[in-house]
Amino acid sequence: MHHETWDAIIIGGGSGGLSAALMLVRARRRVLVVDSGAPRNRFAAHMHGVLGRDGWSPLDLLATGRTEIERYGGVVTPAEVVAVAHDDSGFDVELGTGDRHRARRLLIATGLHDELPDIPGLAEQWGRGAFVCPYCDGWEWRDRRIGVLATGPMSAHQAQMLRQWSPDVAYFTNGAELPDDTVAELTARGIAVERRAIAGTSNDDDGRLSGIRLSDGDTATIDVIFLHPRVVPNDGLLLSLGAATVPGHGGAPWVEVDETGRTSVDGVWAVGNVVNPSASVPVASGAGNVAGATINADLIEEEIQTALAAAEAAALTPRS
Ligand SMILES: Cc1cc2nc3c(=O)[nH]c(=O)nc-3n(C[C@H](O)[C@H](O)[C@H](O)COP(=O)(O)OP(=O)(O)OC[C@H]3O[C@@H](n4cnc5c(N)ncnc54)[C@H](O)[C@@H]3O)c2cc1C
Repeated sequence: MHHETWDAIIIGGGSGGLSAALMLVRARRRVLVVDSGAPRNRFAAHMHGVLGRDGWSPLDLLATGRTEIERYGGVVTPAEVVAVAHDDSGFDVELGTGDRHRARRLLIATGLHDELPDIPGLAEQWGRGAFVCPYCDGWEWRDRRIGVLATGPMSAHQAQMLRQWSPDVAYFTNGAELPDDTVAELTARGIAVERRAIAGTSNDDDGRLSGIRLSDGDTATIDVIFLHPRVVPNDGLLLSLGAATVPGHGGAPWVEVDETGRTSVDGVWAVGNVVNPSASVPVASGAGNVAGATINADLIEEEIQTALAAAEAAALTPRS
């Protein structure tokens, strides 16, 4: 166990947290990144829509980012932060290892976790034969047999989106009711509607998704399935600090931030999927970049006030 004071501690070393760290270390700030090593897209072998890095492994991108931060003197520690607390002079950060650190500012970029529907075999396909984002993975499945699983109000729209990538799209309602006008819109664009309940996935000998097993014993042949999982922010640390929330995705409370990522708690910023479920890698990265610069500006403002107070105190002190 040891105590050190950093200008900023960044909790979460995905694209949001590492981008903020890069800005801060280049501004000559002392920065500690603590990362438990489970970025949301770790299930995917390739990453897309990331200019200059299209098709890269998401894990390679983060490894490269960590090297860049360390090159400027930043420290990246593989650990989980288990508790944070604040007082008038800063923040206490406790790691699962038992180490404790102090920070003048905190940035929380802990991402979210995807809760998949309880369909046998689906979790094993996540990032391999089951995906969330047409812009990230649609191109790779163009003109193939695409399934879309109904999980919520935006699912029919997701099927309509994927029709842009393939003429062969099937919408699996998994036994749920579907309004007539939605059926009309789907069938008008040639999207098949499969209403039978789902029993599980079927795979080929190499474990690749090959279809959806239906409860009556039939199998619908598809190459890939897209779905919207339930997204749950990893916001426990933010809530423990008292960060204000607003109704967000699905009506659930999400931590509120301004356009720089600043939360309602003085000295605490949050960026990426923990506050914005739609943030892709470039969006999380951009938010981290803005937050990093804003944290540096906030530290400079504090340093101006401290210098002024010291100058005033010196002026009042009688010379001997
Ligand atoms: C299957 C799949 C494929 C995707 N493909 C793409 C794609 O091709 N292109 C694209 O732009 N986007 C893609 N995405 C979205 C992408 O995953 C997110 O945009 C991105 O991960 C958001 O970055 P982030 O920094 O907010 O969070 P994350 O990348 O999830 O990083 C959060 C980090 O915080 C750490 N953490 C959490 N809690 C703690 C704690 N208490 N202490 C310490 N560390 C903690 C986690 O371990 C993790 O490393 C995909 C998502 C999925 C699910």
